[in-house]
Order: sequence, then structure tokens, then C-alpha cells
Amino acid sequence: MLAIRFHGRGGQGAKTASRIVGTAAFLEGFVAQDSPIYGAERRGAPVAAFTRIAREPIRERGIIAHPTVVVVADTSLISDPAARVLDGVDEKTVLFMNSSLSAEQLATQISLSGRVTALDLTEVALQRFGKRGAISALLGAVAGRLVGLRQESIHEAISRELADLGLAPSVIEQNQVAARHCYDAVPVVALETGSRRVPGSTRLRIPNYEPPSRGTARISAAANSLLRETGGWRTFRPVLVPDKCNGCWLCFVYCPDGVISMTKDDRPVIDYDHCKGCQICVQECPTRALVAEREKEGEAAWTAK
Ligand code: SF4
Ligand code: SF4
Repeated sequence: MLAIRFHGRGGQGAKTASRIVGTAAFLEGFVAQDSPIYGAERRGAPVAAFTRIAREPIRERGIIAHPTVVVVADTSLISDPAARVLDGVDEKTVLFMNSSLSAEQLATQISLSGRVTALDLTEVALQRFGKRGAISALLGAVAGRLVGLRQESIHEAISRELADLGLAPSVIEQNQVAARHCYDAVPVVALETGSRRVPGSTRLRIPNYEPPSRGTARISAAANSLLRETGGWRTFRPVLVPDKCNGCWLCFVYCPDGVISMTKDDRPVIDYDHCKGCQICVQECPTRALVAEREKEGEAAWTAK
């Protein structure tokens, strides 16, 4: 069985990427299973998704603890302990990074035991789509290539999955073209196809179901959101162009995280420790006084280790 684990941020398309790979595998006659995990999360929050592919019925369920391939949509997740990107990764795991750094740079600058490969999908998306947005088709194409699925299957799977999301045919076609580019461009590394199971993990386990009072996530400590520095979630940061700002306060009103404060002369100040990079302020600013700049901090944070 091949087990692919996707890590991304809410809005990047990790869940849809896992579905694209699952559908492509299904089209090739495999048994496939895919599922996401993200809880009651916000755009930008760490999310994970899982795809299993096999020739036999898949009896394993839930998270993938020992992945064959890990696909990382955002390298800033590596330094986020909540994301647990490197859990279960060993020297046989193939690690794909969406990064502007090469695989060699990544392998030497962070201590990784897996087989690293990389491609700058964000740059591909910017060049092909001309804007920021979900890169699910690109992630799916890369993952599919790494596990040996055919380009035609990925192409068809993108069509089905993005159509299910209600995207226009022209947008789907644009995604397919960009995905084909990534499929061809990603450096392929040898895949370890043997069992990834740890001894004793194959016996059937019956899960216990807790009542909602125990089984539902809840926050019981008050006023703790300041402790969670969501600035590491950003792929793009909003930056003010002061000359264009008319002081209308709309960015202040629209920011869903309340991280914009206003000065006495009506200029926004962004708390970058907690701005998650959703870009709502950029979208809503009537004078284009806020612009999105690609974030490099995440890479800097872990490459400095
Ligand atoms: S400042 Fe802008 S990008 Fe940051 S969280 Fe608020 S609306 Fe989103
Ligand atoms: S929405 Fe734009 S113009 Fe209005 S205060 Fe914010 S940055 Fe300035």
C-alpha cells in the first residue's frame, strides 16, 4: 500500500489534492481511500489529508502515521509543532516541499531523514494564474507523479474534482495545464514501496466513541488566543502603501482576526505576529493601499535552525 500524507494550510487545497490523487488512482484500477482532518479551523490553519492506494482492499483507516510520501504545501508548517509534518518520517519516506529552495538546499539546511524533492508550486501558480489561490491541482499532480500515477489519470481526476467544487471549465483547464507542467517538472526520487507498518499495528482495533461532552474539541481556558502566534500561517503578507490609504477603516472592520489597529491619523497597523495572511484586507481595501507580498519568513525560521 502507498500512503500519502498532505500538509497544507486551510485554503491551499491539500484536501482536494488528496481527492485528486485518490480519484486518479481509482481511475487506474487501484483501491483508493482519501480523507482530510482539519477540525473547526480557519483559513491559514494547518490541515492534513490522507490518501491510501493499494491493489487489495484497504482495511486501515484514519491518519497516516507512517507515510510513503509526505507532500508539504507550505514549508512554514515544518516549524509549527501543531502541524506534525515530520511525524513518522524516516529515511525511506519521500518528502515533497513546495519551496523556492532546491532539494539539496532543503536537505542540508534542515535535518530531514527522508528523500527530499522540491518544486516552487507557488511561483508556478503566480505565473500561470496570475494570483494567489488554491494549488490543489498542482499538489495532486506532484503527488501523483511521485507515486507513479499516469498524467492522463491526474488530468481526468482534476477535471472531476474541480468540477465538483463548481469551478468553471476554463479555470479547470488552466489548472490542468499548470498541473501538467508540475507533473513533468517535479524531480522524481526513488519510492520505497515495501510495508510501512510498524510491528503489531495490523491487528483490528475497535475505537471507543466518547459522548459529545468528552469527544468534542473545546477551549476551556479564557483569553488565550494571543498565545497562538498565527503569523506563521501566512504565505503572503499584507503590506500598506501609505500614499494610497484614505483612512477609511475598512481593513480594520473586515479583518476576521482583529489584528489591524488604527493610528490617530487613521492609518492601519498590522500585528504581523497574529496576521494569518487571509488577504481579506487586501481584497476589501477600496484604494489598493494594501498589497500582498510573498512571505519568506517561514523558510527563514526553519532554515536558520
Ligand atoms: S490583517 Fe489582513 S491578511 Fe492579516 S488576518 Fe487581517 S484581514 Fe487577514
Ligand atoms: S481599507 Fe485601505 S484605504 Fe481603508 S484604511 Fe485600510 S488600507 Fe487604508
